[in-house]
Amino acid sequence: MRLAKANPEVGAQDRADRLRRIRSAAQVLRIAFPAVQHIQLELKFETSNRLTPASQSHQLHPPARAFFEFPCPYADCGGSFDLTAAVNAALADQARHSQGMLACEGLRPLSYATRQLCGLRLIYTVDATFYPK
Ligand SMILES: [Zn+2]
Repeated sequence: MRLAKANPEVGAQDRADRLRRIRSAAQVLRIAFPAVQHIQLELKFETSNRLTPASQSHQLHPPARAFFEFPCPYADCGGSFDLTAAVNAALADQARHSQGMLACEGLRPLSYATRQLCGLRLIYTVDATFYPK
């Protein structure tokens, strides 16, 4: 299992601002990956100790930003899941597919004292569709 990149000191609002900034600076898919028609991301979450967040489905088309970092669905968590490597793996794969799991390394306010990480698990699948040649 790989661990998601995160700065545990970053609060949820900072995280939202940071993601928005990076997203708006990212290239669009059409430029970054001209051969790609769309990228489908399915995100499922797993946790044993709290309410499990709803699954998410994202379909990215050529005008979308080529930015694949998603905030942890817990509103009070400063963590995020970076699926950049997963998307690159799918684009490089013969079947245009990748899947795996990441764990959130964000901190939530209640756990600042104990330094206990959020730990929410993300089970993802990435499927890329290329334009017909
Ligand atoms: Zn989290």
